[in-house]
Amino acid sequence: MNLICGECKKKDEVTKVRIEEQRKSYEPMDIFWDEDGKQHFHNPNYNIEHYICSNGHRFQLEHQAPDCPICKWKAPKPDISKGQIVKQKT
Ligand SMILES: [Zn+2]
Ligand SMILES: [Zn+2]
Repeated sequence: MNLICGECKKKDEVTKVRIEEQRKSYEPMDIFWDEDGKQHFHNPNYNIEHYICSNGHRFQLEHQAPDCPICKWKAPKPDISKGQIVKQKT
């Protein structure tokens, strides 16, 4: 995944981006086989990453697990308050 700071891009500046903080959920994943023997992956987990660029701009991205390929089950929207904070080592 390519990632550049949007603020800096507007000003044609080139900066490095680092992860400042991560919030992840650790819900159990529901994997089962339906009546047709097809395997479902229902993964409710998400990963929210907070970034900071070398000019000090902050932004965040939410990464959600992919939908179930069989029934298109969608993970619920991330509940940030429940996420665990994983501090990034620098
Ligand atoms: Zn920036
Ligand atoms: Zn499914």
